[in-house]
Amino acid sequence: MYKVTKQILFCYGHRLLNYSGKCRYLHGHNGKVEIELQAERLDRRGMVVDFNDIQRAVKGWIDQQLDHRMLLNRKDPLLLMIRKAGEPLYVMEENPTAEAIARLIFEYAQSQGFPVTEVRLWETEHSFATFSQRQATISRHNVRRKV
Ligand SMILES: [Zn+2]
Repeated sequence: MYKVTKQILFCYGHRLLNYSGKCRYLHGHNGKVEIELQAERLDRRGMVVDFNDIQRAVKGWIDQQLDHRMLLNRKDPLLLMIRKAGEPLYVMEENPTAEAIARLIFEYAQSQGFPVTEVRLWETEHSFATFSQRQATISRHNVRRKV
């Protein structure tokens, strides 16, 4: 099995409803998404997928839809106010957690025909969430570097 991973950096704002931690307030993250693609055989160029093709398709979509935007739950009472102010928004059906954003990007990459197997969304340097179809699971990890 061959596997390639593409990293894409983007900035986003969000806040979480029904949550007591700091993410209940409007704030932003420097996010990093890792898109993992797999194939049992290489194409005629000897590749799983051309990195440039993922860059063009998925980074292009992220730049347009998510980068420097406020990602908000459809039920967020601030939605109307932020929309009225003309601020860039991306409305989600659920809380805009790292898990939900990983799934969103996974589903977009898949809809574009890429053989995506896993998407990891790093919300901070130490924490990422994974959406993977292979196991049909969402998981959350905290990574602590050894000092
Ligand atoms: Zn947050």
